[in-house]
Amino acid sequence: MMDEARAVLRNLYGYNDFRGEQTAAISAVLDSRDALVIMPTGGGKSLCYQIPSLVREGIGIVVSPLIALMEDQVSALQQLGVEAEFLNSTLSPGQQADITYRLQAGDVKLLYVAPERLLQESTLQLLEALDIALFAVDEAHCVSQWGHDFRQDYLGLGLLKQRFPDVPLIALTATADSRTRVEIVERLQLQQPEIFIGGFDRPNIRYTVSLKQDARRQLLRFLQQHPGEAGVVYCMSRNKTESTAEWLCKQGFLALPYHAGLPADLRAHHQQRFLREEAVIMVATIAFGMGIDKPDVRFVAHLDLPKSIESYYQETGRAGRDGEPSEAWMVYGLQDVVRLGQMVDGSNLSDEMKRFERQKLNRLLGWCEVTRCRRQALLAYFDQEAPDHCGNCDICLNPPPTWDGTDAARKLLSAVYRTGQRFGAGHVIDVLLGKDTEKVRQYGHETLSTFGIGQDRSASQWQSVLRQLLVQGHVFSDSERYGAIRLTEASRPLLRGEMNLELREDVVEKVARKDKASPRRNIELSVNDEPLWEALRDCRKRLATEQSVPPYVIFHDATLLQMVDQKPTSKDEMAMISGVGQAKLDRYGQAFIDVIEQMLMSMDS
Ligand code: ADP
Ligand code: ZN
Repeated sequence: MMDEARAVLRNLYGYNDFRGEQTAAISAVLDSRDALVIMPTGGGKSLCYQIPSLVREGIGIVVSPLIALMEDQVSALQQLGVEAEFLNSTLSPGQQADITYRLQAGDVKLLYVAPERLLQESTLQLLEALDIALFAVDEAHCVSQWGHDFRQDYLGLGLLKQRFPDVPLIALTATADSRTRVEIVERLQLQQPEIFIGGFDRPNIRYTVSLKQDARRQLLRFLQQHPGEAGVVYCMSRNKTESTAEWLCKQGFLALPYHAGLPADLRAHHQQRFLREEAVIMVATIAFGMGIDKPDVRFVAHLDLPKSIESYYQETGRAGRDGEPSEAWMVYGLQDVVRLGQMVDGSNLSDEMKRFERQKLNRLLGWCEVTRCRRQALLAYFDQEAPDHCGNCDICLNPPPTWDGTDAARKLLSAVYRTGQRFGAGHVIDVLLGKDTEKVRQYGHETLSTFGIGQDRSASQWQSVLRQLLVQGHVFSDSERYGAIRLTEASRPLLRGEMNLELREDVVEKVARKDKASPRRNIELSVNDEPLWEALRDCRKRLATEQSVPPYVIFHDATLLQMVDQKPTSKDEMAMISGVGQAKLDRYGQAFIDVIEQMLMSMDS
C-alpha cells in the first residue's frame, strides 16, 4: 500500500518524496494502527491523514476545530481533484441534505467536520452506516486542559474509539510537551498508538529578540524590511491590537485588528482578507492563528511577551509554512516581565497552576536573555539537540557582549535588602543612584550604606541588571505587595560572594547591516526575473479571484518561484515542478505556460 501512497503523492500533489516522519506515520495508519503525530507547523501533518484516506477503502473523517477555515482546506483538496466536503453549521439545510446523500452514495473521500457537529447523535449514526477509512483529529492538543487552546468540545472525542473501535484514529498536533502528549493519548483513548515526533527545528525561520525601547519605532523598522508581505503582529490586549493596526495604516501598511471582542462577522471578514489578499498585516491577540494554514506568512512579530515557550513556538510557527525564509521577531522589557508575573498571580488559578504558569513564564524569560544560539536553546526546551551555531538567529548573527555582573548584582541585591524588600524597581534604582526623591527622604533611605553606590551606571543599565536577576530567579516581584522586589533563596550564594554572574549587555538595536538584512527567498530572483514573477502572481491572483479561493490554493509561492527558475514551456516540463500535480497541470498548466512564453517572447524582441 505504500506504493500506492507514493503514487498519490507524485500524481495528485506533485511532490517527489515524503518528508521526515510522513512515511512512517502513513504506513502505520495504512496498517490500521492508531497514531499520534507531533510535527511542527509546516511539517506536513495534513498528508499524514489525507493520503491514507485516499488509499484506504472508505472515507476519511477529519475533526478540525475551526469552522471558518474548513472551507479553504476543502477547496485546496478539491483543487487537487479530491472529493472533499465539510459539514458544519454554516451550511444550509439543502446543502447538508445534499452532502448527506453524497456521503451515503460513497461519493466523498474526505469529510471535514467540527467536533460539536461530529458528536451529535445524528452525525454519529450517519457515520456508522458508512465505510470509514480513518478518523483524524487535527490540533489534538485542544483536548489538553494544561495546554493553551483547550476546547470543551474536544473532550467528548474519546467517544470515537468507543463507537468505532476498529477504525484507526490519527491525532495530530504541533504542541511538543510530553504532558500534553500523554493527555492526548488518554483522552482520545488511542489504542497502543505509534507516536511519531518530527524534528522541531524550523530552519527557515529567523529568530530575533530585542529589548523594548520604543516599540512602535522598532516595529516600523522591522516592517520596512518586509514590504508587500503578509504577517502577524501579536499584542496582549484587544485595545492595543486596534490602536496598533490604526497606527500602522497611517504609516502606509494594510493592517487589520483581530481579537475575540470584535463582532463575529468583522472578525471573519478580517481573517478572510488576510487569507485572500497578499500583503495584509494582522494585528491580533492570541485569539488569531490556530488552524490558519496560509503558507506564505512571512513574519510573526510579538509586541508583548507570550506566556510560555510553547505559546511562542506555536505562534511564531505560523510563519513560513512554505519553507521560504521568514522571521520571528519580538521585543520585550522589564515592564512585561513584571506585568506577566502579576497577571499569573492575580488570576483565579489554583496555587499549583499558578506555580506551573510562573515556571513556564520564567523559562521563556530565560530564553529571551540567552547568550548562546537562540535556536539551540529553543530546541533544547523541547529536548531536541541542535548544533551550537545555526547562523540564522540574532545571537549567531550578532553575538551580544557579556560582562561580569557579579559586583553590580550584589549592589542591587543589597539595595533591595537594605530597603526592606518593600519597594518596586523604580525606588530601588533611585537608591542605587543616590537620587534625592520624596520617597527617599520619607523613608530616610539617604542614610543607607547602599545609597548612591550605583552611580557608575545609568538607570537603564540598572534596569537591565534587575531584569536579568528577575529572569534568573535571584529576585521576584511580589504581587501581594504591589510588585515589591524581594530576594529569593537563589540570591544567597551571590550575596555571599560564592558565585559569579555573567550578564548580557543590552545592545541598542543596530540598523541591520546589508548582509544581515531580512532573509531572502530560497530561489533568488534576479532583476530580470521580477517581471515574470509578477506576471505569474497576477495570473494566480486572477484564477483565485475567479473561483473565490485564496491565491495559495492555486499554487504556493515556492511553486511559482520554481517556475521562474525553470521557465517550463511544455506540459511535460510543467509537470516536473514541485507542487504541480495532475489535476492542477490539467487545469492551470497551460495558463501559466502562456504567461512564461509571452514573457520569453517579449524578452527576445
Ligand atoms: P502542517 O499541517 O504540519 O502545518 P501542512 O500539512 O500544511 O503542514 O504542510 C505544510 C506545507 O508543506 C504545505 O504547503 C504542503 O503542501 C507541503 N508539504 C507537505 N508534505 C510535503 C512533501 N512531502 N513534499 C513537499 N511539500 C510538502
Ligand atoms: Zn543561532
